[in-house]
Amino acid sequence: MNRHDHDPALERLLGPTGPEIGCDECFELLDEYVELELSGVDADARVPGMRAHLDGCPACHGEHESLRALVAADDGAA
Ligand SMILES: [Zn+2]
Repeated sequence: MNRHDHDPALERLLGPTGPEIGCDECFELLDEYVELELSGVDADARVPGMRAHLDGCPACHGEHESLRALVAADDGAA
C-alpha cells in the first residue's frame, strides 16, 4: 500500500481556488486592508487574496487581529 492522498507538488500546481497572496505581500498590504475594512469598504474586493491568506496563515491572522484592534482604537479617539 502506498497512498498519496496529499501531494504538495500537485497542490502547488493547481493552486488555491482563488488568488492568494504570500506573507510578504500580506504584510505590505495589511495596513491598507485594515483601513479599508474599518472604513466600511469592501476590503476583500480591493485586496484580493488577503482573506484567503489570513484564513490559512496563523501568523498573519494574528498580525491582522492586533493591527485592526490598534487602528480601531485610534479611529475611536479621532
Ligand atoms: Zn502569512
